[in-house]
Amino acid sequence: MTSSIYQSDIVEMKELDNLFIELTSKNCNQRCKNCYIDFPLYKKQADFIDIDIIKQALEDTIDEKIKCIYLSGAEPMTHPDFNSILRLCLKRTDVCICTNGSFINEKKARFLKKVEGESSNTIIFKISIDHYDEVKNDDVRYRGAYRHGMFAIRHLLKYNFSVILSLTNYYNLSKEEIFSGFKSSFKRYDINSDSILIQISPFHNKLPKPEEPKIESSECFDCINSRVISSSGVYTCPFLANDFRGRCGGSFADYNKKCSLETEYCATCAKSPSPIFSLDFSLFQ
Ligand code: SF4
Repeated sequence: MTSSIYQSDIVEMKELDNLFIELTSKNCNQRCKNCYIDFPLYKKQADFIDIDIIKQALEDTIDEKIKCIYLSGAEPMTHPDFNSILRLCLKRTDVCICTNGSFINEKKARFLKKVEGESSNTIIFKISIDHYDEVKNDDVRYRGAYRHGMFAIRHLLKYNFSVILSLTNYYNLSKEEIFSGFKSSFKRYDINSDSILIQISPFHNKLPKPEEPKIESSECFDCINSRVISSSGVYTCPFLANDFRGRCGGSFADYNKKCSLETEYCATCAKSPSPIFSLDFSLFQ
């Protein structure tokens, strides 16, 4: 289907499998250089999503068979009510925490295991590391990012969490190089590489580009089975959270299930052979 205004393809959401919650309105403790987010120059307390908005979203989506709730940010663990929000979401379904890992030490991993044990659902972690080489990774992220990520993975595995290493392919590496490079890095950090899944996403270049070619809809766009709630409403996907072009409504009580593929972010999604933000559930079978 094509939009008559923009002549761009329209995607209609099929099922709401993935509910993303943008906890921090793009606030992060690190601000990596290669992140798709344009970080605000200052932070207001009101930018953190209120837990009541999340309660309402869970109530409004009660008839949807959500497979996973994603706590995202930028860095979700900077939210002052992070633990309460995690407990609330775990009552509903599995929760994926999308994090740079900088808040996860041994004590935190032990605590999170205890929180998980209070529910019948599971916590999954997506930890961002963008190169198997420490210097190259920290060059595009921040100084110390690599060690934060690796130590977080080691602590989480100690408590038997499912961990996915989420790699934004800034260096345009082949899959083979990524997998063999990380195999040796994991060995150095005493991490069993068989326990880690690696999810690779294309890098989204924020620099202005010549006009993008027409984007055609694909079965693997996140907007087909996901929506994001932030402090300002419902949006199509994490790329477009708080961006008027991705706005779907004020709440899940009544929201738009269609979106048009008109943004530069959609062009990045079109380059990816799988959804960029949501989990590939088949990996866990
Ligand atoms: S950026 Fe990707 S997921 Fe978001 S609306 Fe565009 S195609 Fe869909």
